[in-house]
Amino acid sequence: MDFAQRTIDIARQNVAEGGRPFATVIVKDGEILAESPNLVAQTSDPTAHAEILAIREACTKLGTEHLTGATIYVLAHPCPMCLGSLYYCSPDEVVFLTTRDAYEPHYVDDRKYFELDTFYGEFAKDHTERRLPMRHDARADAIAVYRFWQERNGGERRVADAPTSPF
Ligand SMILES: [Zn+2]
Repeated sequence: MDFAQRTIDIARQNVAEGGRPFATVIVKDGEILAESPNLVAQTSDPTAHAEILAIREACTKLGTEHLTGATIYVLAHPCPMCLGSLYYCSPDEVVFLTTRDAYEPHYVDDRKYFELDTFYGEFAKDHTERRLPMRHDARADAIAVYRFWQERNGGERRVADAPTSPF
């Protein structure tokens, strides 16, 4: 099966139904584990990007937060939110079928605190420099929650069974 073509077909169908031009297909062991179009227009949920929905479905199905061994096809190079979610689920590979530069003549989704050109750069800035207003209200009781978690985790501070880098 041509999984890239499947990704294009899902996105095209979504546009035909009034949705936005994005889709994700997650493949493991040669089969589709989960797939989704972007459902932001249909649900008013700004986090309902195709990657987020497909990752959620795949992980729920497998009962794990790790998609090691999976290949994830996305119609477009992922936004920072989805890029973060892709880092979290540790797939073997992400395949993107278009770039922002290629689709920009046809689709733009700028917001109050970013344009697609500036979005990735915002994340690298110190919080005081970001366009999104952020305020650090430091509380010792907040740190205590982490100490409590570590105690409940047998004194270990790492989450069990997460695939970490061998380097
Ligand atoms: Zn996204």
